[in-house]
Amino acid sequence: MFGIECRTFFIYHEDNMKIIQKHEECIGCGTCVALCPKFWEMGDDGKAYPKGGKKNSKTGDWELEVEKVGCNKDAAEACPVQIIVIR
Ligand code: SF4
Repeated sequence: MFGIECRTFFIYHEDNMKIIQKHEECIGCGTCVALCPKFWEMGDDGKAYPKGGKKNSKTGDWELEVEKVGCNKDAAEACPVQIIVIR
């Protein structure tokens, strides 16, 4: 009797990535700041910002280049409106 084994391998590389936040959709819950204070802070507008990030003038999103994703992965997974993207 022969069987076929299928496996899917997902490789998540964590070096030199870009963190993108759809800032206008932020509801200001503070989850990203609580989970990842090294990279996230609340702004005067009641929304979170990636520390040291820049606004993309074309998209309006905030972007931050990072060498290591680190806790940004936790922030992205926990964001209740799923507006933090890592790529
Ligand atoms: S977790 Fe998401 S919605 Fe909450 S403050 Fe951070 S970016 Fe905004």
